[in-house]
Amino acid sequence: MSSSNRFKFDFLASKPKAIQRSVSNHLVYTIGKDPFTATDHDWMMAFCHVVRDRLIERWMETQRSYYRNDAKRVYYLSMEFLIGRSLTNSLLNMDIHDACSSALHRLGIELERLRNLEHDAALGNGGLGRLAACFLDSMATLDLPGIGYGIRFEYGMFRQRIENGQQVEHPENWLAHGNPWEFPRPEVAYKVRFGGRVLEYQGPNGRRQFDWIEGDLVLAQAYDTPIPGYKNDTVNNLRLWSAKAHQAFDLSCFNMGEYSSAVEEKTLSENISKVLYPDDSSSQNRELRLKQQYFFVCASLKDILRRFFSDHNDIHELPERVAIQLNDTHPAIAIPELMRVLIDKYHLEWQLAWEITTKIFSYTNHTLLPEALESWPVELLGRLLPRHLQLIYEINRRFLLMVANLHPGDTERQRRLSVIDEQDGRRVRMAHLAIIGSHKVNGVSALHSGLLKSSTFHDFDEFYPNKIINITNGITPRRWLYQANRPLSALICEAIGDAWVRDLNQLEALIPLADDSSFQERFAAAKLVNKQRLAELVKFHLGQQIDPHTLFDVQVKRIHEYKRQLLNLMRVIAHYNRLLDAPDAEVVPRTYIFGGKAAPGYFMAKLIIRLINDVADVIDNDQAVNKRLKVLFIPNYDVTTAADIIPAAELSQQISTAGMEASGTGNMKLALNGSLTMGTLDGANVEIRDQVGAENIFIFGLTTDQVKQRCQQGYHPRYHFESEPLLRRVVEMIGNGFFSPEEPERYKPLVESLLDRDHFMVMADFQAYLECSDRADAIYRQPEIWNQMAILNTAQMGYFSSDRTIQEYAQQIWQIAPIQR
Ligand SMILES: *Cc1c(COP(=O)(O)O)cnc(C)c1O
Repeated sequence: MSSSNRFKFDFLASKPKAIQRSVSNHLVYTIGKDPFTATDHDWMMAFCHVVRDRLIERWMETQRSYYRNDAKRVYYLSMEFLIGRSLTNSLLNMDIHDACSSALHRLGIELERLRNLEHDAALGNGGLGRLAACFLDSMATLDLPGIGYGIRFEYGMFRQRIENGQQVEHPENWLAHGNPWEFPRPEVAYKVRFGGRVLEYQGPNGRRQFDWIEGDLVLAQAYDTPIPGYKNDTVNNLRLWSAKAHQAFDLSCFNMGEYSSAVEEKTLSENISKVLYPDDSSSQNRELRLKQQYFFVCASLKDILRRFFSDHNDIHELPERVAIQLNDTHPAIAIPELMRVLIDKYHLEWQLAWEITTKIFSYTNHTLLPEALESWPVELLGRLLPRHLQLIYEINRRFLLMVANLHPGDTERQRRLSVIDEQDGRRVRMAHLAIIGSHKVNGVSALHSGLLKSSTFHDFDEFYPNKIINITNGITPRRWLYQANRPLSALICEAIGDAWVRDLNQLEALIPLADDSSFQERFAAAKLVNKQRLAELVKFHLGQQIDPHTLFDVQVKRIHEYKRQLLNLMRVIAHYNRLLDAPDAEVVPRTYIFGGKAAPGYFMAKLIIRLINDVADVIDNDQAVNKRLKVLFIPNYDVTTAADIIPAAELSQQISTAGMEASGTGNMKLALNGSLTMGTLDGANVEIRDQVGAENIFIFGLTTDQVKQRCQQGYHPRYHFESEPLLRRVVEMIGNGFFSPEEPERYKPLVESLLDRDHFMVMADFQAYLECSDRADAIYRQPEIWNQMAILNTAQMGYFSSDRTIQEYAQQIWQIAPIQR
């Protein structure tokens, strides 16, 4: 096609007047309301349609350019995409924010009010799902042909309410009022099979062939969500699959009068995409979970092959056109699935099929916690996916032969490396499958990748040198600074221009301003505006008073023992005791802010939430201290609350037991927003220290090596209890019901865990943590120094842009390049 023939859009007008007209039109013709009866929600939906019109045309043009360029695409397969709201993101990325704001104003509507009516797309638990969302943003911003594939959960992450101090989970029916950002594609639907049996037959050339037949079929239907890049007219695609019954009603049942069993079957198959599993860092061995995994993997691979064959005909070229990234092992069943398609459908020889498969796949490991490493019982996998189990056995057989060749007689090594765990019932280790079937495996921080190579996957690293690499996580500066923190963004733009939004290293131009007292003052003023805004939100939503002139000391993330919210809370109690003992003591007035969800079945995590709220109550009711000390638990931590809290934070608590947090990304969001990190040498904290300078971060506690040493030598938490009076007093208060007088035994499980096991070394790090906290206080009393440190944090966080992360994936793993248009 010659370029003059090419269908080109004149992008829809983005002048306020034209936008105003479009909003009015959509209100009437799309929503079916007139301005007199329209609710705020109607206006919001009408307005979103105006925005999405402008996305659609850029989106279609982008997709055409990928076809024109015969672009190699990367497919990001992830069970979770934690996107949050899309409205502001779209407005700012398409550069129509101000025009829209004034268009709405002319209609008598404030953009801010509409913004708050949008539901979060909360199709993820925490860090892993949010990483996927940041990656989509960066791929679009870098003009990379990246496509996300996942599940369109009808119910996303549960909504957390705090009732009587305890977490209560409420279903999140985010689609109930319609989702303006999605496009249903009823014509894009694939059959997904479960169960059945494997038929063996003689192929035309006398070869043994296999066919997977019978069983139950479910339809996977596509829904597309446009993903705009930052001011580059690129709009990529996120394709999510929804389960539909294959045949709405089985007519034979119907005729026999079994209407309800026909309906039942339909509901059963549609259950697959009903709800997200709300477990972070632990694996659920539920049949439905495995079904979800295969469901979206199978549909995605069919879609990838359809797209490939729409303009290619030689399957051998597949690895030149397709790269597939597995976000953790959740989609790792894709490896035997592609083998099945290549061998059973395209009749390739094993060796060739395996070469193609391993060239296409790569795998990101997100955790070393043993409880999070997925393994499926052989029985379950064989029952749902009989052909895949055969293929997994064959992959494993060939792999172990190679291992045996290299290490003859070393059966212990074979046992360690095997895909099949023979220990407690036979199980398929998905991480082993993912490593063997990928050409690259990456960890998510320097420390984590090092540990992968030296411990968890040491044998694999020996067997496949250079396969395991590091690519440190990042966050998108668009959402986490440019959008979330308008006051600071404006200040930065005024000082150094706006190039940093797409090239975060440019923030280094702020370094010389760190000791400029007028810049310091304006930096602090922006922080104060954010703190005041958060205080207003807290007042409005929770009816609680927080003082913007106190130090905002923040720990927001999933509640998990390894993240040690309990350690933070014990510090709070120690500070409280200080004030009890010396009521006139000069202390830095503080607001401790906690936020985070616990997995519904995680007893200890829920107990920690309850203790936070009990401690908050006791302190609130203590007139002697409550002007200088405040504890607040902000419920329902999600992307939207994160964007409200993070810009207002001054201290960022990143205090996981060393060696347990793979990377963390909350740490990056906070430091980028000028919050000083108080943390252990864990995950990406190590690299944050390297970037911002050891003098601009508060590091304390055992290192990974010291934690390991203590474990080996035999760790005795009671020793700390006996020898550290401050610690002893805190633990006793928790244990004797000081914070739960109506039920003194309430926190016995926490105290027993601390004294008897303390797997997370809370007791060992307590003293160092208190001392570190005092160091921070001393500096907070010197605002010039504190502000200087905060500025130097923002200025030196450029490395943690997910743009840098994605460029590394593109070069080192995917071998893809930006598409110039
Ligand atoms: C960034 C983010 C996380 C991850 O936080 P960590 O501190 O890295 O565990 C979790 N949840 C939400 C909503 C986030 O935005």
